[in-house]
Amino acid sequence: MSDNENNIEALLLQVQVMSSVLDNIGSYVYSKDLAGKYTYVNADVAKLFQTSVQDIIGKDDSHFFDLDISNEINQNDLKVIRNKAPLITEENNVIKSTGKVNTYQIIKKPILDNKGNVIGISGISVDITEKKALEAENQEQKYLLDVILDNVDAYIYMKDDNRYFRYVNDRVAKLFGLPAKDIIGKRDIDVISQADADHFWQTDKLAFESNDKVIINETLKAADNKIHHYLSVKVPCHFKDDYKTLIGFSTDVTELYQLKEKFEQLANIDELTGLYNRRYFFDNANREFNRAERHQQALAVISIDVDRFKTINDKYGHPVGDQVLVKVAQLITPTVRSEDIFARIGGEEFSILLPNTSRHESQQTAERLRHLLDNNPISITDDISLPIKISLGVSVLKAADTSFQDLYARSDIALYKAKSMGRNNVYLID
Ligand code: GH3
Ligand code: MG
Ligand code: MG
Repeated sequence: MSDNENNIEALLLQVQVMSSVLDNIGSYVYSKDLAGKYTYVNADVAKLFQTSVQDIIGKDDSHFFDLDISNEINQNDLKVIRNKAPLITEENNVIKSTGKVNTYQIIKKPILDNKGNVIGISGISVDITEKKALEAENQEQKYLLDVILDNVDAYIYMKDDNRYFRYVNDRVAKLFGLPAKDIIGKRDIDVISQADADHFWQTDKLAFESNDKVIINETLKAADNKIHHYLSVKVPCHFKDDYKTLIGFSTDVTELYQLKEKFEQLANIDELTGLYNRRYFFDNANREFNRAERHQQALAVISIDVDRFKTINDKYGHPVGDQVLVKVAQLITPTVRSEDIFARIGGEEFSILLPNTSRHESQQTAERLRHLLDNNPISITDDISLPIKISLGVSVLKAADTSFQDLYARSDIALYKAKSMGRNNVYLID
């Protein structure tokens, strides 16, 4: 074989290899002349047009595309020819044989002869229809998520184990008084006070260290300068290997918290007099009893009962009776020590628990209270002033007492004694 023949054979082989490569490239590859007629198409183009390569060569796009709708093809081709420059863009077109609308990422370049004149164009088109649909779907999902996250009644955030915020919703942004974009990518200590950031970090750390969901109460002084309580759920999640993340949901439960505190308080308070009630008295008395026993300290109880109270109700009516109870409570309250517990046990009966108080001191206190009532008639109206007397029974802790009930029962016995002695009396029982 001559050199020439060898060259031609090598060239043919090269063309064969290239055409095989182009047939397997997974994109549409083609070239056209200045009249728009195909001079080359790869196998993918033939498949797309549902015909053979031979059938396509020499024909223009009007055979394959609905050019009324797909006018972008010609416009782009012309642009490349006119500008003598490559064009990278997206192209939508409708294939005649299927009627399907597809979107392509295209690269079109002018083909030049050796004098530099444009003689046609080459193009590569990649079908991105599915990718575009997926992108649109993702965008829709993101929009939906953004709307939900920004309108839900909770603070939602994502944080990594280096204290960087990865996401915050609108509510967090408002709470911190910064736009979300100025918080995301910053550390907690860069956007809130060191103390608050450290407070949150304590519970963030719990979630990271346990690698488990953490449900916790948090408090923070908000922009309104008021203490807010939050119920927070922190869920660790790992999107990437290089850092750990958690997603936090915090709900402002301040109102609920205050309500709970109020209910707890109400459960301990006697509605009529505002004194502690029976429940609070006995709960604390049992605790004080145990403490006094443990430390071998003194403890005393004074039980008080209003004398002949029934006659007041009978004579003036129940509402006046109520008023008397309130005034008795108001007279005694300022005279008890802060460590004492003064409570309305029920009806016209009151008790005072006196920690660290000796036999003598408690008797003196009881006597002082008897005098207080005895010397201060209770005024109801300008004309009505009632001489209210009380009887008091005093008991003090004994080594043999096994529960507060023992001590309390004795004060009750002492009270009966005081009544039987003619009322307006103090009786101390040993
Ligand atoms: P004494 O203790 O001196 O033996 O006589 P008393 O009349 O005080 O004794 P008693 O325990 O028989 O009467 C207590 C009365 O208190 C009976 C009840 O109707 C009345 N009472 C109980 N709770 C209340 C209340 O909340 N308000 C009013 N106004 N009266 C009450
Ligand atoms: Mg009574
Ligand atoms: Mg009474």
